[in-house]
Amino acid sequence: MSAVSATAQRPSVLLLGGTSEGYELASALAARRQWHTINSLAGRTEQPRRPAGETRIGGFGGVAGLAAWLRAHAIRATLDATHPFAATMGWHAAAACAQAGVPLLRLERPPWTAVPGDNWHEVADWPAAVERLRHLNARRVLLAVGRQELAPFAQLDQAWFLIRCVTPPLPLPPFAAAEVRLARGPFTLADERALLDTYRIDAIVCKNSGGDATVAKLVAARERGLPVILQRRPPRPPTMTVTDIDAALAWLERVTKPAGE
Ligand code: NAP
Repeated sequence: MSAVSATAQRPSVLLLGGTSEGYELASALAARRQWHTINSLAGRTEQPRRPAGETRIGGFGGVAGLAAWLRAHAIRATLDATHPFAATMGWHAAAACAQAGVPLLRLERPPWTAVPGDNWHEVADWPAAVERLRHLNARRVLLAVGRQELAPFAQLDQAWFLIRCVTPPLPLPPFAAAEVRLARGPFTLADERALLDTYRIDAIVCKNSGGDATVAKLVAARERGLPVILQRRPPRPPTMTVTDIDAALAWLERVTKPAGE
């Protein structure tokens, strides 16, 4: 059988990625060889980790663009493994899949939840985080919010910021005092303890991303009684959701099974 006809016989699946679980799911799908998977990345990161299998990069052009793309590629199922803070793509996927009659499943890591000893200040958005930093009179802040979301913090000129991100923030908003530290998780507890102590950090600002890769800073903050200003996750459509890859594979198996089997 030729590679082309083998691909043609396998159900096509769209995997919306850009996360570690998207990457892991792509590897699991490639290993099963049961589906023809097209991974989709938004194109925000200059040198993204390329998932296993075919990859396309860039937006679809809103709901209508995605619905047309799903039809044109005869997609049989869509897996949304975008980041919990990717606030738009999930809504677009839900609307487009409904229009095109394509089953949709969300794969999402659970949020972190506070445990005794945590000094968390949960906020809905960054302006609220700025107000909270002012209120706490924070002076040395670890800012782990993503390079495109720094601007609201630049108005706080009484604080020094350690800005941690994967790609350089260019242009850097006009902070009175800041240092950029380029780093990609996972981060160990030893690394995070050393970082907080070396830079004498007195507050952390981050998103409630969940997962293991970046949780160590919360543990190190708890040990030191430091305040953590945590952005809550944005609202999502009521898409069926699983938290692990095996459950996603089982769902995919079910929805792509030929009729009558
Ligand atoms: P977003 O606000 O939900 O999406 C904005 C637009 O980017 C979407 O409307 C869509 O454009 C395009 N897009 C998003 N994800 C895409 C994907 N996987 N494939 C193709 N197009 C995609 O998302 P965002 O916050 O800008 O994040 C962009 C990507 O970075 C996401 O894939 C996400 O998984 C990843 N990421 C985000 C964060 C975060 O904190 N936001 C953190 C880590 C990773 P069209 O409307 O043109 O289709």
